Amino acid sequence: MPNPLERGCRFSMAYEDKTLVCKECGAEFIFSAGEQEFYAEKGFTNEPARCRECRQAKKQRGREMTEVVCAACGNTTQVPFKPTQDRPVYCKACYDAQQSAAAAY
Ligand SMILES: [Zn+2]
Ligand SMILES: [Zn+2]
Repeated sequence: MPNPLERGCRFSMAYEDKTLVCKECGAEFIFSAGEQEFYAEKGFTNEPARCRECRQAKKQRGREMTEVVCAACGNTTQVPFKPTQDRPVYCKACYDAQQSAAAAY
């Protein structure tokens, strides 16, 4: 039978503000006790990698760009989606060339 007192134990576990370094801009930021508790409640095991500013900037940018190698010309390019293994990814120029080639038929 669970001891009702045990519920309180989690909260007596003291979180302390932590200083982390943003992997995006290299700035130090505080991972506060409250945030740590929030993360723990959500079951997140990873600490935030980015500072608040970078996280917000990322949100505002919306979709994250992924760097890929064009299947046609081999140039690196950025696409606003996560490419899957079974589909070739093209840079803008090659994609446009393919589209116009397809349209020519
Ligand atoms: Zn940052
Ligand atoms: Zn290309």
